[in-house]
Order: sequence, then structure tokens, then C-alpha cells
Amino acid sequence: DKGLAVFTSGGDSQGMNAAVRACVRMAIYLGCKVYFIREGYQGMVDGGDCIQEANWASVSSIIHRGGTIIGSARCQDFRERQGRLKAANNLIQRGITNLVVIGGDGSLTGANLFRQEWSSLLEELVKNKTITTEQQEKFNVLHIVGLVGSIDNDFCGTDMTIGTDTALHRIIEAIDAISSTAYSHQRTFIMEVMGRHCGYLAISAAIATEADFMFIPEEPVSVTWQDEICLKLQQERSAGQRLNIVIVAEGAMDREGHPITAEDVKKVIDERLKHDARITVLGHVQRGGNPSAFDRILACRMGAEATLALMEATPDSVPVVISLDGNQAVRVPLMECVERTQAVAKAMKEKRWADAVKLRGRS
Ligand code: ADP
Repeated sequence: DKGLAVFTSGGDSQGMNAAVRACVRMAIYLGCKVYFIREGYQGMVDGGDCIQEANWASVSSIIHRGGTIIGSARCQDFRERQGRLKAANNLIQRGITNLVVIGGDGSLTGANLFRQEWSSLLEELVKNKTITTEQQEKFNVLHIVGLVGSIDNDFCGTDMTIGTDTALHRIIEAIDAISSTAYSHQRTFIMEVMGRHCGYLAISAAIATEADFMFIPEEPVSVTWQDEICLKLQQERSAGQRLNIVIVAEGAMDREGHPITAEDVKKVIDERLKHDARITVLGHVQRGGNPSAFDRILACRMGAEATLALMEATPDSVPVVISLDGNQAVRVPLMECVERTQAVAKAMKEKRWADAVKLRGRS
């Protein structure tokens, strides 16, 4: 008789709807009352119509849609205890003590904090006479499970995050389209792709589109990169190639930590090679469009597993994220993954690239 709610938070990614759908349907299948929380934590704090009961039909025909139909937001209120107190009350009033949070490391950190504070929040609500002691006793434990929606594949502990595969498809489609026009006019295209701390999209796109040069955050180029790129592009042209593709991840830099932008690359190519060089910044196109088959299936498996993990949780079980390990959906300790992810970001910021790669491990 304890309710389950699902919400999406932070940056959106393709496949979130498939995850929402799987959570909802598995919950209904197992006999739970299940709710959507709209607009992420903001909806949890605001309550009212933002928290709505879901049914089997309310998640029909969403598996193929990009973004998130229940909305996502960044929420300052939830960062404050007062906001979390309101959120706790909104959940208690509906009997919700199980949460599936679909978001990035920030959203998962918030959920973990909420869970740790839960009993003290309930105590405060009893003191304020907002809830009764019966309610406090009945709903004394909050269970949370995380799913990682991120197009960058920048989360430690899972081989793939929900949305990455689709974003890669968007990038490859764009590069293929640009390559045909680049070929006609013998142009050089510099493509800026997402990935502030993680070069997964850039490196995978570079392999899949036979790009000539790439810049990724984890492996900064030497400070004489200008010579290297010119030599490489020149060689390709001398070998008869009519176009060049260069991929620059957002977080690219040189070994001294100077950022490298698509503009910087274009300037070098213009000045030294006198190529007709153009920049394409893919931006939010990478987040858009229908999810790939891989992301739909990944999200379905993860969503179903999240609901199962919640149903099997005991008061002292550690919160988990559902991750992909090889071809298995597995449960891994949430805070371990979040802490490792944050340690990677810190190492990158401090220009300890080798440490970052080591910390990240396989995924
Ligand atoms: P992402 O989940 O994609 O990493 P953010 O870092 O912006 O995105 O986090 C999304 C939301 O999660 C924030 O707007 C905030 O409401 C909540 N959140 C993030 N970090 C915390 C935190 N340390 N404490 C409480 N809430 C947090």
C-alpha cells in the first residue's frame, strides 16, 4: 500500500520516456499505486497538480518520443531544507515512500540527501502538526533508486547512460550530411559536440565518421597541436581526400589546460592551410529527436529493474542506481557512483587527466 513516484530531473535525454513507462507499468503490474511528479524536484516541492496518479494508458505511445513528457527542471528550492520539507509533506500526503529519480549526478545527490534527512524531516512535520505520528510511523523510510539520463555518458558505474546512443546517432547523421556537401566544395568542417568532461561522443563519432582529427577533454593535445593538425589535414588532402572533418568536444583543451574551441581550430586552418573551413555547432540537436532502439530497450530494462529494486528494498539497504554492466542491468551503490563521477570531474578540472581516466575505469 506504499506509493511509488517517478520523476525526471536535470538535463533531459532521449529514452527518459521509455524509462518512465517501464517504471510505471512494472509498478502497476506489481500492484503499486504509482505517480508522476512533473517538472522534477520543483513539482515535488510545489505539489498540487504536479503530482498525479499514473495508469497503464498514461504511458502509452511515449516510448518513441524524445525528451521527457513529464517535464524536467532545475530547482533551487530543493537545495534548501525548507523546500525538501515541503516536498516530504507532499509525498506523505499521497503515501509515497518510493522514488525513482531519472537524472544526472546532481539529481541523484539531491535524492540521496533527501533520503538521509527523511526521518528528521518527518519529525519536523510532526512538530509543526503538518502530519500525524501515525503517518510518521507508517511512512518512516524513504526508498530511492536512480537511473542515469545523460547524453554525455559521463557517469561512473554504468557502461552506457540513457540517451548517449541516440545523441551519437544525431551527431553521425549530421556529420554524414555535412560530409556530402564538404566533398562537393572541398571544405573542412569543424564540428563541435557535447562532452564537457567526457569525450565519449567525440571519440565514438570520430571513429564512426572517419574524422581526420579530434579534440577530447581526457587526452589533451600538445601545445603544438596547430602544427600537428595542419600536417595531418595536409597529408589527407595530398592523398586525394576532398574534405576534412575535425571534431571538437566542448571540454577540449591542450596539455597546459588552455581551452580549445572550434573557433581556434578554424583560425589555424584558415591562416595556415587556406582551406574553406566552416564550423557547425550541433548544440541541442544532440539532445533531440526520437530515441534509438538501443536507448529504448536500455531504458525499458532499467526502468523495470528500478521498480523491482524498490519493491525489494529493506530499511537498511543502500540506495542503488541501475546500471548496464556488459549486457546486464545491475544494481550498484548510488553514492559510490556519484562520488566517483564527481571525483572524475574534479580531476579533470585540476588537469589531472590520467587520474580522471583511471578513476572512471571501464565506464
Ligand atoms: P543533473 O541531475 O543533470 O546533474 P543538476 O546538477 O542541475 O542536474 O541537478 C538537478 C537538480 O537536482 C537541481 O536543480 C536541484 O534541485 C537538485 N540537486 C542537485 N544537487 C543537489 C544537492 N546537493 N542537494 C539538493 N538538491 C540537489
